[in-house]
Amino acid sequence: MAEQVPLSDEAVAQEPEVAADRDEPTREVAADLAYRRLGIVNAVFWGERGAGDRGWVLIDAGLRGTAGLIRSAAEARFGEGSRPSAIVMTHGHFDHVGALSTLAEEWDVPVYAHELERPYLDGSASYPPGDPGVGGGMMSRLSRFYPTGPIDIGERLRNLPADGSVPGMPGWRWLHTPGHSVGHVSLWRESDRMLVAGDAIVTTGQESAYSVAVQEPQMHGPPAYFTIDWEAAERSVGKLAALGPETILTMHGQPLQGPLMQQALATLSRDFREIAVPENGVYVAAPRRAEDGTAYERS
Ligand SMILES: [Zn+2]
Ligand SMILES: [Zn+2]
Repeated sequence: MAEQVPLSDEAVAQEPEVAADRDEPTREVAADLAYRRLGIVNAVFWGERGAGDRGWVLIDAGLRGTAGLIRSAAEARFGEGSRPSAIVMTHGHFDHVGALSTLAEEWDVPVYAHELERPYLDGSASYPPGDPGVGGGMMSRLSRFYPTGPIDIGERLRNLPADGSVPGMPGWRWLHTPGHSVGHVSLWRESDRMLVAGDAIVTTGQESAYSVAVQEPQMHGPPAYFTIDWEAAERSVGKLAALGPETILTMHGQPLQGPLMQQALATLSRDFREIAVPENGVYVAAPRRAEDGTAYERS
């Protein structure tokens, strides 16, 4: 599949030399924002280096089996044995909740998500199946086999505050950006125009195993095989583009910044239907929504 909105390495928002010097598993995007790539997905850490116990927040929890990698990245950045004050979920797909139960229990920490995402996290509903018909490569072709949950994290699950604040992250707001999933949220900080977009936008061709491996930067709609409402996804990309972010960190691909990124984001938003919406997709023709309950049906 052609790249959606290709970008040069100039748009990548990080300084690999700095990260390499420090010999840390995380790559830093701002003084208080870093991420660790876990194969096909990123886990994001908010908090300054050395923030210490309960002084930081984990955003999304990677693939199954990556609890140790997330923990070691956190300890290298924040201090040995340090626990977060909260875990914030952009949404609950399997590649974002893989280590969630393990880490939430070990750290004894509240987990925040949008209330529409709750059924996937409290054991009451599964996601609709992945759609292999969206094209783009092997990640799509295999998507019927991806786990659709639910998981049950029990008492620790909380709704994100109705006032738009993000627990443990002063200066940030959560924005409802549905489409990829019904309770998907993005995180936004106005002061430096920093956007953590989750899967509402990604910066690699997540449908293709090759793109995922090489991580060439591109501006890309949500991973197509799991996106269940394309009209909502388009509105969400429009909402994020309208913010005018300076830097964008997504859960798949490298962080991007600056005018090249901004142009690409404007293009993706303007031409979303041509660029990002698959020609043949079951959820293009038959979206799944929270209002009629279809988003919570397994098949
Ligand atoms: Zn997802
Ligand atoms: Zn994802």
